[in-house]
Amino acid sequence: MTGRVTLVGGGPGAEHLMTVGALRALADADVVLYDRLSPHERLSELAPRALLINVGKLPGHHPVSQKGIELLLVDHARAGCHVVRLKGGDPYVFGRGSEEVIACRAAGIPVEVIPGVTSAISVPAAAGIPLTHRGVSKLFTVVSGHAPLSEEELQHLAALGGTIVVLMGVGTLPHLAAGLRRHGAAADLPVAIIERGYSNGQKTTISNLAEVVTDATRAGVAAPAVLVVGEVVRLADSGDLVAAGVIHSAELMTEGL
Ligand code: SAH
Repeated sequence: MTGRVTLVGGGPGAEHLMTVGALRALADADVVLYDRLSPHERLSELAPRALLINVGKLPGHHPVSQKGIELLLVDHARAGCHVVRLKGGDPYVFGRGSEEVIACRAAGIPVEVIPGVTSAISVPAAAGIPLTHRGVSKLFTVVSGHAPLSEEELQHLAALGGTIVVLMGVGTLPHLAAGLRRHGAAADLPVAIIERGYSNGQKTTISNLAEVVTDATRAGVAAPAVLVVGEVVRLADSGDLVAAGVIHSAELMTEGL
């Protein structure tokens, strides 16, 4: 009998942010494919019957290719297994989840998607940053920084206002900051970089568009990190920031809104 595949959003890394649906799917899994961004510390307890396969991707290095992951999903399901593909955050937010769903459908394998808590919203929250706030920001745009944005995209983004959230954006931060400035965004527009949200190593760096590249270099910022550009950053929870030895914290607290 053919098995099935469940794509599970595992949230940003903290077990308490996994959904009931995610925990149920893991408990029932015969095979779990996970990677470095999915919460996997206690996987052997959460998925006690399952064969655990690390398909983890390090930046610039792919131990198992995307095609390889899709083949593993299909092959194990064809062998009759309930295969859980555990992903960081939400499977449909820059997670290549849709590609895996298409591959399963093409192979005639039943597939279900369990949404997860995306890092785009939760990691800023971990640093006390709301993406919207009445009178400050009524919209947020979530952007992939994996490849540099085009001039046109930068122009629209700068003109749109509201909050800009960038995932996979550490490498392209200089391009983004300069581009937004070039298209009229204010030099003092606040920027937050939240590294390794919900882990012991969570660190927040607060700066502004003009200084963020220097500040990020000085702070040794590295992926995984979520960038937040916008006035809402001024609402950041100062407790977390001071604890993390944040840059410009005095300025942040005295300026307020
Ligand atoms: N599907 C995921 C995103 C995958 S892209 C989601 O919905 O969250 C991977 C990027 O997500 C990372 O480069 C980083 O920008 C962000 N990210 C995921 N988990 C994170 C965490 N715990 N802390 C900081 N950034 C994180």
